[in-house]
Amino acid sequence: PLLILTVIVGLLAGLACYRLLGRPGSPRAILRRALEARQFEPFLQPIVRAGDGHWIGAEVLMRWHLPGEGLIRPDLFIPMAEQTGQILPMTRDLMQQVAEVLAPHAAELPPHCHIGFNISAAHCSDPQLLEDCRNFLAAFPSGSIELWLELTERELIEPTEASDLLFQQLSSLGVKVAIDDFGIGHASLNYLQRFTVDALKIDQSFVKRIGADTLSAHLLDTLVALATKLDIDLVAEGVETAAQRDYLRALRVRYLQGYYFGRPMPIREFMPALRQHRNAVREVMDLRA
Ligand code: C2E
Ligand code: MG
Ligand code: MG
Ligand code: MG
Repeated sequence: PLLILTVIVGLLAGLACYRLLGRPGSPRAILRRALEARQFEPFLQPIVRAGDGHWIGAEVLMRWHLPGEGLIRPDLFIPMAEQTGQILPMTRDLMQQVAEVLAPHAAELPPHCHIGFNISAAHCSDPQLLEDCRNFLAAFPSGSIELWLELTERELIEPTEASDLLFQQLSSLGVKVAIDDFGIGHASLNYLQRFTVDALKIDQSFVKRIGADTLSAHLLDTLVALATKLDIDLVAEGVETAAQRDYLRALRVRYLQGYYFGRPMPIREFMPALRQHRNAVREVMDLRA
């Protein structure tokens, strides 16, 4: 059954590719050509401190700028990139682009600015990830960036000695690990034992159901209690309303992310948006004084 599933997923990915480009070619070749043409772009979405709404950093989200088709959302091409192994060079390129654009503005970034990249299962057995992280950090003045890697449970990650060693090395480099979409996968609690997890990103589905029913409220409360007990930071994703923000803040979830605070934006717009955000905060402070 696993083989059949793999074949079906592969066929679907091939079909999506075919439709995207309107011409045949192996998914791997198509993605590689797109990478060479620098068609993958970083979008940044602010992450804010729940307490005061200040931006503390951003998550990097990949977009495929396909000429003639516009921006392709990652759900359509990331699975394909993972199956073909192209996700490794694609992520490396993404890290380089982010460093290139942000490093010249390092002094203006929030202190210890969080920059989060999504990584895939294949990264966990890729020794080059360590080098990529080292290079990323080296582009910035020391201590100015807190590099986060967001690990999804989309694919189950099997523990190996190599991956254990990799995460130890990443940790000594100061790289932090967050479990993404926490609460909807099957391996959640497993992961907490496997990796030195620094943060959990509560899946959007929990945030969406805030105020909907008591079962959802209990689930959210329990997630928060678990993280607190384990001394793990929490980030809530998909915050779209003031009511959700207030609820999460009352629960003492530390960081928030969602359309309510800012949508993912092309990286070139990030610095101007950050300055605007700072001015807005300053104005509010001035009014209060
Ligand atoms: P994710 O890492 O959980 O990222 C959060 C997703 O939620 C993003 O979708 C973001 O645009 C969306 N989002 C943020 N705030 C809100 C909100 O308030 N409401 C709603 N409805 N959605 C919100 P996006 O950019 O389409 O990315 C989808 C997924 O693709 C990501 O989920 C991540 O798993 C994957 N992905 C994105 N970029 C990369 C990458 O560079 N590498 C890998 N391996 N995966 C990536
Ligand atoms: Mg993520
Ligand atoms: Mg997520
Ligand atoms: Mg997601």
